[in-house]
Amino acid sequence: MVKRSDIQNIIVTGKSGAGKQPRIDVLVSEFGLEQLSTGNIFREYVGSFDDSGFKGDLEAFYDEINDTFVKDEFIEKAIKEQLPDLEDIRPVFLGLKAKYFMNSGRFVPNRTTNELFAEYFSKGGYKGFVLDGYPRTPDQAEFLLYLCEKNGTRIDLIVLVNNSDKLIIDRTVGRRICPSCKKVHHIEFKPSRDGIHCDDCGVELVQRADDTAERIQMRLFEFYDKVIPTLDILEKAGIPIVTVEGNLEVFTEENVRRSVMERIDPLLE
Ligand code: AMP
Repeated sequence: MVKRSDIQNIIVTGKSGAGKQPRIDVLVSEFGLEQLSTGNIFREYVGSFDDSGFKGDLEAFYDEINDTFVKDEFIEKAIKEQLPDLEDIRPVFLGLKAKYFMNSGRFVPNRTTNELFAEYFSKGGYKGFVLDGYPRTPDQAEFLLYLCEKNGTRIDLIVLVNNSDKLIIDRTVGRRICPSCKKVHHIEFKPSRDGIHCDDCGVELVQRADDTAERIQMRLFEFYDKVIPTLDILEKAGIPIVTVEGNLEVFTEENVRRSVMERIDPLLE
């Protein structure tokens, strides 16, 4: 049992497109936590890469036979050669690496993901977060447990958002995101008022590049192959897992809040 006011970190997990964001919103507001999303971080770096104007075949930087990127110096040299005026090459460098994997719906390699995650996790003193999309592999789970132990913090709870593959495919293909505030809409299930712009920001909604049927299948495969064994490790480390329904008959903020909190409350003092 953990005291409600003592919650340090909560992991929210589930298949990509299961409906994590509304549940994360509940946890952020109920427990005063901050969302830390590796997917959003990677997308920002990919944005920097796209904006940089770097041209070139990403395949040239990846050695498929040995399943590894070519040496960092080689990638850095290629970026510097094309973009000599770039002040900070790191966002473009990280964006290049992330894009190579995100483009195909595959996970970004552990070393890159862990380093980036640790950087953001440390900013809050390794606590105060809803971890969204991390950890997703056994290696990342071990790394997270190590970071917490080393820094005297903990993960209190895992919230697994449950949803069927079929519904996820339907929902993800119709998903539209506000590029400014990141609010999630759906062309059929949750359209904005005019169906085109974000209700809050007025910015035109966009489809995420990785929200195509083919890439979703790949992300579902990654879930069964890697996330399930990841949850095993965390559960064995003594972290309780609660499953919440990702598909509510009547989708209102209050119903989402209730469906999440009625599963969590019994675990709190
Ligand atoms: P998401 O928005 O969480 O579905 O993440 C989008 C994409 O970012 C994923 O399909 C992966 O390519 C990458 N990504 C996000 N989080 C991770 C992670 N923890 N490990 C590896 N790749 C990740």
